[in-house]
Amino acid sequence: MNRASFLQRILECRDPWDIAVVGGGATGVGIAVDAASRGYRVALLEQSDFGKGTSSRSTKLVHGGVRYLQQGNISLVMEALRERGLLLQNAPHLVHDLQFVVPNYAWWEAPFYGIGLKVYDTLAGKFGFGASKLLSRDEVLERIPTLERDGLRGGVLYHDGQFDDSRLLINLAQTAAEQGACLLNYARVTGLVKDAEGFLTGLSLHDQETGQEHRLAARCVINATGPFCDELRRSDDPVAAPMIAPSQGVHIVLSRDFLPRDTAIMVPHTRDGRVMFAIPWHHHVVVGTTDTPIQTVSLEPKPLEHEVDFILETASGYLARRPTRRDILSVFTGIRPLVKAGDHSSTAALSRDHTIHISKSGLLTITGGKWTTYRKMAEDCVDHAMVLGRLAERPCATKDLHVHGFHRRAEQFGPLADYGSDAVGLEELIRARPDFATPLHEALPICGAQVVWAARCEMARTVDDVLARRTRALFLNAKAALAMAPAVARLLATELGRDEAWQQRQLAEFADIVSGYVVTA
Ligand SMILES: Cc1cc2nc3c(=O)[nH]c(=O)nc-3n(C[C@H](O)[C@H](O)[C@H](O)COP(=O)(O)OP(=O)(O)OC[C@H]3O[C@@H](n4cnc5c(N)ncnc54)[C@H](O)[C@@H]3O)c2cc1C
Repeated sequence: MNRASFLQRILECRDPWDIAVVGGGATGVGIAVDAASRGYRVALLEQSDFGKGTSSRSTKLVHGGVRYLQQGNISLVMEALRERGLLLQNAPHLVHDLQFVVPNYAWWEAPFYGIGLKVYDTLAGKFGFGASKLLSRDEVLERIPTLERDGLRGGVLYHDGQFDDSRLLINLAQTAAEQGACLLNYARVTGLVKDAEGFLTGLSLHDQETGQEHRLAARCVINATGPFCDELRRSDDPVAAPMIAPSQGVHIVLSRDFLPRDTAIMVPHTRDGRVMFAIPWHHHVVVGTTDTPIQTVSLEPKPLEHEVDFILETASGYLARRPTRRDILSVFTGIRPLVKAGDHSSTAALSRDHTIHISKSGLLTITGGKWTTYRKMAEDCVDHAMVLGRLAERPCATKDLHVHGFHRRAEQFGPLADYGSDAVGLEELIRARPDFATPLHEALPICGAQVVWAARCEMARTVDDVLARRTRALFLNAKAALAMAPAVARLLATELGRDEAWQQRQLAEFADIVSGYVVTA
């Protein structure tokens, strides 16, 4: 993963690429893995960093979606449960089993959720993570001692998957590169190129680092820009009707004291009829999410006051110690690329399935779906691209493809476990430079070796890339991330050959980003 050599490849390429993918989130990078592993020549362009959009801002669940079961969407749940199993098989260093408890305060909840979750187990079939079961009040409190005790009758325990979304994304980008794909971050697609008959033949891109414009020819162009997909569709066809009804989801992050053991809480029905989770993640607790329809999409969506208050209020109904704004270490917001399906007033009712659309000029847009099903989405998309681009027919090869970093016992690497087999490389780096092992902040176990590794092996280009997506500092503790920024800027500047002025600009830009993750008391 080296940006300069990827750019060189794009500039020197004379023949059209088989497939050009616009967008470096789960959807786009998944497509690059699929297409490259079938043997196609693939270029992927991301306007910012890989995962800067929704794909680093999820609830971090690899799940069938208990809520979709409530909605009766059995096929979606079954497909997601199958993909959940494949993801655990192919990326065991990043995906693990997590136990959830649905706490019961009313008499009918144990039979109702107990039966529903048995159906969930059955649908998972051989891809099951473990059987659900009813728990007594004492068993629930043993797992979640911080739960509200007043009126608690018992609970239902079930299993689902958990992961680190942006770490998986970076590992998928590395997998795509290993399969021969060419991936460029900080490369914004600014226009589409058509022939005399109006058919797409390629695109133009703006290198955000140098300010230069380039062109790239491709047999098939895929719009995988998630919540931004209507923008690119309008540059193809100015009167294209919008496909997306964007809605934003907010999570707050609290200290581990609020959920000290390894079991998560699932609240199946909040005041607005949604599911809410409180999940242990990287020694913190993630609580969310909300669902607010929005008009405009941006790369750094901001939480609304009432969304934060709603999460605090819902969490307070279930936690003995009520969290307040002062307890929030970070707040992050993501935009759901929900596909419009008729005239629904509630975003919770919009389709969670993915949709593929091909325009008259041949622009293939794929959107919707969820992180868990990225592999299946990519398979469907490349099957269509193969026909559209008149490419030689080749079968999908990702069902058993190990993701970069694959390691069955990664927990042996301690704080570097999420790097899987790459942890060995980081340990070597630390042996050569023991000073790189020192944590950059007392609140988080993130060290200099991770910054250097991110620059050398994971195409990190900015302080934000390192602190938000190569490590998760910004998402875990925004003020600690800000305090680490000068050390990160110095290490990055050495790796990337940047000067003092660059470091100062980076720090100012990062401080601006951090302000969107801090909640005022
Ligand atoms: C709050 C929330 C919680 C969620 N939780 C879960 C969960 O727990 N589990 C799960 O399975 N799913 C979850 N999802 C869904 C999942 O996160 C998304 O479906 C998925 O990340 C969408 O990926 P994407 O690649 O389509 O979009 P994105 O990740 O947004 O990627 C699109 C990319 O396109 C780039 N782009 C846009 N325009 C251009 C251009 N002109 N040129 C180049 N690049 C461009 C953007 O910069 C962006 O990086 C959640 C979603 C939200 C919002």
